[in-house]
Amino acid sequence: MRKRILLVTLLVSVVGILLLSVLFSDMFYRQSVQLVEGQLKSYMNIYAAEHGGDPLTAELALSLSEEFGGARVTFLTSDGTPVADSQTDASQMENHAAREEVLAALQTGEGYAVRESASVGRNWVYFCRLFGDAEAGFLVRLAIQADSGLAIFADALPTVVWFLFLDILICLFVAWIATAFILRPVEKLTQAAARSAGREVHSDYPELQPIAKMINDMNADLSDKVAKMKEDRRLEKLILNSMEHGIVIFRDPADIILINKTAMRLLDYETNEPIPCFTQDREIAQILASGEPASVLRKIEGRDYSLRFTFNDRSRVLLITDMTETMAAARSKNELIANVTHEMNTPLTSIRGFAELIEAGGVPPEKLGSVAHTIIRQSDRLAHLIRSIINFSAIDSDELPDYEVDLSELVREAAAAFEPKIAQKNIAFTLEADEGVKVLSRRERLLEIVNNLISNGIRYNKEGGSLLVRLQGGPEPMLCVRDTGVGISPENQGRIFDRFYTVDRSHNGVGGGFGLGLAIVKKLCRRAGWELSVESELGQGTAFVIRFCAKKAETPAKDGT
Ligand code: ADP
Repeated sequence: MRKRILLVTLLVSVVGILLLSVLFSDMFYRQSVQLVEGQLKSYMNIYAAEHGGDPLTAELALSLSEEFGGARVTFLTSDGTPVADSQTDASQMENHAAREEVLAALQTGEGYAVRESASVGRNWVYFCRLFGDAEAGFLVRLAIQADSGLAIFADALPTVVWFLFLDILICLFVAWIATAFILRPVEKLTQAAARSAGREVHSDYPELQPIAKMINDMNADLSDKVAKMKEDRRLEKLILNSMEHGIVIFRDPADIILINKTAMRLLDYETNEPIPCFTQDREIAQILASGEPASVLRKIEGRDYSLRFTFNDRSRVLLITDMTETMAAARSKNELIANVTHEMNTPLTSIRGFAELIEAGGVPPEKLGSVAHTIIRQSDRLAHLIRSIINFSAIDSDELPDYEVDLSELVREAAAAFEPKIAQKNIAFTLEADEGVKVLSRRERLLEIVNNLISNGIRYNKEGGSLLVRLQGGPEPMLCVRDTGVGISPENQGRIFDRFYTVDRSHNGVGGGFGLGLAIVKKLCRRAGWELSVESELGQGTAFVIRFCAKKAETPAKDGT
């Protein structure tokens, strides 16, 4: 701004000075021509007064020229023929009748003319007067050289240059002071805007009010944008950091553009350091070097994670996904298939073996009955196994609504159904059930649970042992099935709820079940949100306790347990 004002001022004053110089030169030139004309006129008058009657000779012309300070004197006849000249031989001169000053003199008696001379920057000023009449008279022409306008300007040029130099200095000084004075309000406004930090700025000058308003509007707009950006950034951070997946965007192991909290924890990353596994894990280092998208599985903090690397032009992305549940589910599925196959194989082999024996006639007629009985028993076990598996799987897809079930009544009915088995094993059975204990569930689910627990209490009891079923009411009803049976060792207590897990595998499919009963109980309790626990001492007995708490039901685990 200051520079612009300075430049404009300089330009205006330089152009002004140059124009003025040209104008003054022209003025001086005109004045000098006028002066010369006056001088020529007075010379002419002297001639007329003192030499008017003298013969027109070259001598006279020469002496007059000397008298008139070197002015050129030419005598001409009235038809324009030069008679004598103070500077050249008149006979060599051409006819002057057409010359401007001669023509004017012949018409009006006197005439002036200015013509360029041969020498650069000089002009001839001519003055011609007619003596006598136009036919018989003669003409006298006087001429003096004067500086041309250009010569005057050239003469003045050094002075003009000095003026210009002075002018520049003055302009610099004046413009400096003037701009400081003019720009002070603008500078004040600029400083106010810089210090405003979002506050409103004002100017006392009405001309600057629109700028102040603009600054205020921009400030407001900027504040909004900054606030929005901050909010976006906060949200981005929140989303990234609350993601259970780890994410890293990076250029190279030491140049991390973005990393969320999960990734920081899983990769043991501390700010400004290369991510350890990027350099220490050979397989990962190879993936990074190849630049090809790839995944690796790693165990971190006891869980399985997939590390998926993708690449684009500018950056690389690592997505860390917890695969523990997915892999456990896959393992569990494989285990389930293996277990089911195994459990089915035993009765099937037995059925097929006996059937082949009968077909080959290898069974004596008296033993046919017992063989048929074995085949029927194994078929029943097979059917029981299939039902248990279906039952177990059906729990996940059971979306039927719950209703209030009278658990006191249900426990009593279930216990009654087991009376023959209890008597068979000579077990002392006690039922302590509060009246009217209601639980929100479905009858068949509760029956499944109670049946499984009582059946195990009988199956794994000793001959002549005791079995207690206690149902307590209250806000959180409690069911306890306690026996004085074989008990479960501490290391097995954690596993008895797994599918197909049996403590003594030798009894599979014989006296015991297939290890699905407690898995079903656990699954049903988990779905309903009830607490299931076991207390047991090897050789002393076992107690299963279910607290029917009203806490929110959990979703089934991915591995199907
Ligand atoms: P199963 O059909 O084999 O009884 P469960 O899932 O009901 O399968 O039980 C799993 C295992 O837990 C059983 O094989 C048994 O070894 C053990 N178990 C279950 N209940 C009892 C109990 N009351 N006393 C001792 N062991 C038990």
